[in-house]
Amino acid sequence: MRVVFGRGRLAEVSSEARALGSRPLVVSGRHEAAAAERVAGELGDSLAGWIRQVAQHVPVASAAQAIAAARDGGADVVISIGGGSATGLAKAVAREVGLPVLAVPTTYAGSEMTPVWGQSDEGGKTTGRDERVLPRTVVYDPALTVSMPGELTAASGMNALAHAVESLYALDSTELSRSVAEEAIRALTDGLPDAVSRPDDLGARTGTLRGAWLAGWALGATTMGLHHKLAHLLGGRYRLWHAGVHSALLPQVTAFNAPSVGASLRSAARALGVAGPGLVARALFDLARRLGAPTALAELGLDRGALDEVSTVVAAATISNPRPLTEEAVARVLRQAYVGERPNPTPSCEAPPTATLRERSL
Ligand code: NAD
Repeated sequence: MRVVFGRGRLAEVSSEARALGSRPLVVSGRHEAAAAERVAGELGDSLAGWIRQVAQHVPVASAAQAIAAARDGGADVVISIGGGSATGLAKAVAREVGLPVLAVPTTYAGSEMTPVWGQSDEGGKTTGRDERVLPRTVVYDPALTVSMPGELTAASGMNALAHAVESLYALDSTELSRSVAEEAIRALTDGLPDAVSRPDDLGARTGTLRGAWLAGWALGATTMGLHHKLAHLLGGRYRLWHAGVHSALLPQVTAFNAPSVGASLRSAARALGVAGPGLVARALFDLARRLGAPTALAELGLDRGALDEVSTVVAAATISNPRPLTEEAVARVLRQAYVGERPNPTPSCEAPPTATLRERSL
């Protein structure tokens, strides 16, 4: 995987694309039109097509349209310019047609760093891992992120933090993935307050995007647990705002797992600047509050009646989570996330991880 990172690097997208193929299909969302227009202009007649509409969780109908456009236009590379929705649609084409992906992320979602694909229909969201969807080249240009409004910056940043935190205590984490995750948390915690309060601060944008890159990498290197399972279910089945859901869930799932992952959370505590692992969940909650990111599922429009159904589905699923799950425990986490309860410090957090692998799931 090749990564190009820095201000103004959007200018290199067309030449990077030519290294992968000669007939690019561009995929971009509404807010990313200006950057996509510039790239499409540089590609000129070699452009195989341009999909200008993307949606969260890759609806199967959108995937089918993009796949048909790639085939009809004779595309041999897909360029995604946008957030996780644009990257996700490019991945759907890669998975079906086998084309290489060049991703140009404009949010902190991190999908560009993972071999994870997702697709949704009326029944909910399906995810899986497939090396074919991992982008071959990623071009990060912090200048593309200054247009993110504060609310999106905050929630998307919390989404990136969720990747790093869950990766930190994943049962298959390694020394390398843990140190990358710790660095991601540090970069995000340092960068986000200024990126939210001064959206055009390129220094803060650069540091935050670097954190999102590292968080996405850490996520791709490990197996996701309870947090991501809940986020996929809530986003895919109830069509809630993806980044907002991550933000509301993160402190509560961290508090739930904390008694089993004290050792892993020690590095999160260092990166967040709090005294110990028992304070990490509370620090994440306070950070979300300070950034103005969602802390309650209720504010995202979830019906309280859905909580029981989600608990039942999640408790019955095979999830690789460090703390064993029961339906009652999942229901408690969801109730706390629903109202946005500030987590209490976890006193028993110093216990060593209880590696209870319930099997790989996502
Ligand atoms: P998104 O891509 O839907 O973008 C959210 C909104 O922000 C959209 O309206 C978009 O047009 C706009 N936007 C994007 N960049 C902008 C910018 N720079 N300035 C202003 N507006 C901008 O949302 P997302 O949170 O980036 O991604 C969510 C999707 O990504 C979900 O479908 C999620 O499942 C997926 N995802 C997948 C993985 C993975 O590893 N497969 C990881 C993370 C997220």
